[in-house]
Amino acid sequence: MKLPIYLDHHATTPVDPRVVEAMLPCFGESFGNAASSMHPWGIKAGELVWQAREQLAKLIGGKPGEVVFTSGATEANNLALKGVCEQYASKGNHIISVTTEHKSVLDPLKHLEKKGFEVSYLGVNSEGLIDVEELNSLIMDKTILISVMLANNEIGVVQPLEEVGKIAKKRGVLLHSDAAQALGKISVDVQKLNVDLMSFSAHKMYGPKGVGALWVRSYDPKVHLVAQMHGGGQEEGVRSGTMNVPGIVGFGKACEIAKENLEEDIKRITELRNDLLEKFEKNLDEIRVNGSLEHRLPGNLNMSFEHTESDAVLLGLNQEVGASSGSACDSEKLEPSYVLKEIGLSTDVANAAIRFGIGRSNTREEIEYASNKVIEVVHKLRLMTKS
Ligand code: PMP
Repeated sequence: MKLPIYLDHHATTPVDPRVVEAMLPCFGESFGNAASSMHPWGIKAGELVWQAREQLAKLIGGKPGEVVFTSGATEANNLALKGVCEQYASKGNHIISVTTEHKSVLDPLKHLEKKGFEVSYLGVNSEGLIDVEELNSLIMDKTILISVMLANNEIGVVQPLEEVGKIAKKRGVLLHSDAAQALGKISVDVQKLNVDLMSFSAHKMYGPKGVGALWVRSYDPKVHLVAQMHGGGQEEGVRSGTMNVPGIVGFGKACEIAKENLEEDIKRITELRNDLLEKFEKNLDEIRVNGSLEHRLPGNLNMSFEHTESDAVLLGLNQEVGASSGSACDSEKLEPSYVLKEIGLSTDVANAAIRFGIGRSNTREEIEYASNKVIEVVHKLRLMTKS
């Protein structure tokens, strides 16, 4: 076993060597511009991009032509929210979303509020889950869009999106979902979920950084979007800019690998996560799991080790274990995570939270070592605060 141990797979994932291998020709012989359709270099690049569309579409149950490649999930979320609101503004100005969404959803929504749109923010219960009936009651004639993430980036909680999809369809409102943390980790089927737009990011699923996609439904209903990036008219005018062929090829390969490995990954990673939790429960008191354990990503464990501060725990791990704190640093003061506050944690308990993100390459031995190290550090810190 090698140190340090990476347990921060929600922040980003290591790039799968097979992904790197698939990308390499794009820095050599296959360097063409995918929009240059009149010569072999461009044709080859275009074929590679199409193959990646197919690989992503297969993983999510969509059509290759419904994929709009972007620079990541941040751009996909911006394009979905702003693009839909601009397009359908004559139908209404009301949007429904959730308080625990990623900032790349919440900040575009704030921007839209400044432009005259109204947003209803649904809260979550202590498990981090929305109430679907409450969502239903918020829908009005002027509601044009619902945006609910599939899996949360901090607490890994998976929302009941299939039920939301049924309601959205019945009430005739478009549904967008940020699935950046879900793709490749749990089954994602755009038809079963009844979503109309879905955002993805390659670097969260063993692909390269700086590439992602927005999936946009093309029938029943056909969703139209106002472009947010203007220029050369690539991606049928929805997203101008020369295509990131190496990144897109890597993303496609990561999708292919995810599809092959999904069942096995879910089983193995869930076992590792449960082992980690069991170790903590056996050896430490005054700990709590933040968010629903049942409706959760396999690799996520967000825990508060009460009477400690997460940054002290992370420092104590002495760079042997890479996890993440539940707090976001605001230039001067340490603000507790808004997601943890939303599920009802006090500032102290939120500031004692550590997010462990287990991934494909982690081993049982690593989990054993990391859990022992965390337990040792928590014991030490608690002794220090008592004395
Ligand atoms: N949504 C969620 C839920 C995320 O976790 C992230 C990445 N932290 C993003 C969106 C943004 O993705 P990207 O890094 O591809 O812009």
